[in-house]
Amino acid sequence: MKIFKSLFTIFILCLAFSVSAQENQEVVIKTEKLSDNVYMLTGQGGNIGVCVGEDGVFMIDDQFARLTPKILEAIKTLSDKPIQFLANTHYHGDHTGGNEPIAKQGAKIIAHDNVYKRLNESVPATPKLALPVLTFNDKLQLHINGEDVVIFHVENAHTDGDALLYFVQSNVLHTGDTFFSGLYPYIDLDSGGSINGYINAVKRTLILIDDHTKIIPGHGKLSNKKQYQDFLSMMEDLKAKVITEIESGKSEDDVASNTNITKTYDDLGYSWAFINSERIRRTFYKSLQQ
Ligand SMILES: [Zn+2]
Repeated sequence: MKIFKSLFTIFILCLAFSVSAQENQEVVIKTEKLSDNVYMLTGQGGNIGVCVGEDGVFMIDDQFARLTPKILEAIKTLSDKPIQFLANTHYHGDHTGGNEPIAKQGAKIIAHDNVYKRLNESVPATPKLALPVLTFNDKLQLHINGEDVVIFHVENAHTDGDALLYFVQSNVLHTGDTFFSGLYPYIDLDSGGSINGYINAVKRTLILIDDHTKIIPGHGKLSNKKQYQDFLSMMEDLKAKVITEIESGKSEDDVASNTNITKTYDDLGYSWAFINSERIRRTFYKSLQQ
């Protein structure tokens, strides 16, 4: 019986290993060129921005540690220089999972003060190397590879430590998770995110950009200003509808089950596995009834 048990354990372990190996094998890192020296990399997790040039590589977000070898391979095809800086748009694991292995390559990590705080206080503990070494509370500029990169914080949007990055010369914006292109956004209410802060973040950023700006969203495909505006309209429309429900005395469960609220956007495909239409209605309710 014991033998069967251990054989069974080995079988399960092999199965788990082959599933995760398979998962990894299936992830392909795709590179899109956005300007002479700025690229967008997609794989699994948050979209990555890469800026190359004579000063070295500047990278934004890093997905998961298990993908780091593949991501580094993709970056190597763009530049043979070392990664000098890595910015985290916020603390979530699908954007910071590769911090440690990339810091081991010599990259200095930049992030908002609250990213440092959350990573530093996390359980289980974050390895020291994975922590940002340079943090800011409002705004920071990085001058690298002929680019002025404006890194700015928006308050209580997706989390309490969000940063967006704008490459002035290339006219490229990385929004982090303050934009899920064509998808309902995840808003981490337990980590300081809020509907009102999120909407304000998008409004504030739209002022900065023009019709030619290329936008790397936190999740979803490369986008433009019009798509960021459409996303804002969706957010404002849902906010107005959920406020009406709250004012007429509806409960969270009433809103969660009322598919009419989100129908227009459900039909457009905004609902997805992680944030389906019921979950986004609950998020709006929870954040707005406070
Ligand atoms: Zn996130």
